[in-house]
Amino acid sequence: MLVKILGSAAGGGFPQWNCACPNCGGVRAGTLQGKARTQTQVAITEDRKSWFLLGASPDLRAQIEATPELHPFDGVRQSPIGGVVIANADVDHVLGLLLLRELQPLRIHSTASVRRILREDNSLFAMLQRVDKQAIWTDFAPNEDFALRNANDEDSSLRCRALALGTHYPAYVKSERRSALDASESSLGLMIESPSGAKLAYMPAVPHVDDILLAQLDSADLLLFDGTFWSDDELIRTQGAGRTAREMGHIPVSSAEGSLSRLAGLRRPRKIYLHVNNTNPVLDEASPQHRQVREAGWEIAEDGWQFEL
Ligand SMILES: [Zn+2]
Repeated sequence: MLVKILGSAAGGGFPQWNCACPNCGGVRAGTLQGKARTQTQVAITEDRKSWFLLGASPDLRAQIEATPELHPFDGVRQSPIGGVVIANADVDHVLGLLLLRELQPLRIHSTASVRRILREDNSLFAMLQRVDKQAIWTDFAPNEDFALRNANDEDSSLRCRALALGTHYPAYVKSERRSALDASESSLGLMIESPSGAKLAYMPAVPHVDDILLAQLDSADLLLFDGTFWSDDELIRTQGAGRTAREMGHIPVSSAEGSLSRLAGLRRPRKIYLHVNNTNPVLDEASPQHRQVREAGWEIAEDGWQFEL
């Protein structure tokens, strides 16, 4: 399996358009030791011909253009992107689906709950259903293995299992709809396995880590983990108001119950933080927080990285 990180920042990207925090201001001015990043997007393939997107970010058009493997290679209208796996209904995870609307056949794997939110409550997504076999939606349930298939129903030989992690739907989901949905389908982590047994754990939004999840993560070769916030009150301290990291469904990196500490015992995976918010001090490579993460054996994802599993 080949894994490419097309984008590594949390929603808003880095820098974020309306943010002048020390990180965003510094990267704009060129005074920060660190790199700009687009919103989180990962692409995977087993055969190097048919690719699958994990989520569909608002930066997807530019991310595809920056990745030659994802360019059309056969005819005037064609794409090596065969399908998308959707892990939640967050705007920064699904907006890119609308950028893939050019009547190009595409399979979208999602839970039934997320499909209903997008297709039944948001008429804009009808742009993906203008012709027969444009977007082919395939439901999956948490904790069940399913094969990643392209729009022609060809099996990629990659197997996926979604782990139920969160219980909250995005704020735009109406309360009547929310109460009719299964909370366990709201926010998922994805475990993806190749025929060789190599495993990727894609976990961009993890509210907390229990021992069952810990064992799952330790079965992976590559862990792409929620690096959204350094501290629980990071947004509140930066902007003077807002919600805590945990209220937003993200375990912070630091503190006794943070991910750095909770995941310290993992032995197998290469450990990489992604979905890093622009306010997170680890983006400053000269910061003590950056050094602490690196010394603990973690890496901080950058756009364009790739891994062969
Ligand atoms: Zn900022």
